[in-house]
Amino acid sequence: MAGAYGWTTAPDADACRVCGWDLGEPGWTQEPQYVICPCCGAEAGVDDLDERMARAYLIRWIAGGGRWFAAAERPARWSLTSHLSRVGLSVSRAEFPRS
Ligand SMILES: [Zn+2]
Repeated sequence: MAGAYGWTTAPDADACRVCGWDLGEPGWTQEPQYVICPCCGAEAGVDDLDERMARAYLIRWIAGGGRWFAAAERPARWSLTSHLSRVGLSVSRAEFPRS
C-alpha cells in the first residue's frame, strides 16, 4: 500500500524506506525491487516490509554507527545527523536498545 510508511507523508519511490537515501531507482513499484541501499544497506522487500521493520533496521543501523554499506559511494561531506534531519527522520534515545 502506497504511503504505508510513517516517516514521510509524501513517500518517494526512489527513497530508501529505511533511511530515506535516494536510491536513484525505485526500491518498490507494486512489488519490491530488492534494491540494496548504498547508505544503510537495507534491501527493499526484505528489510522494509512494514514500518516497524524499517524502523527497527534504522535503529540498528544508527546504533552500529550509521556506516555506509557501499563506502565508496559515501559523499565526502555526508554526516549521519544532517542526513537524518534532511530526510525528516528523528530517533529518540528511548528507542535504542539498552546495553
Ligand atoms: Zn537506506
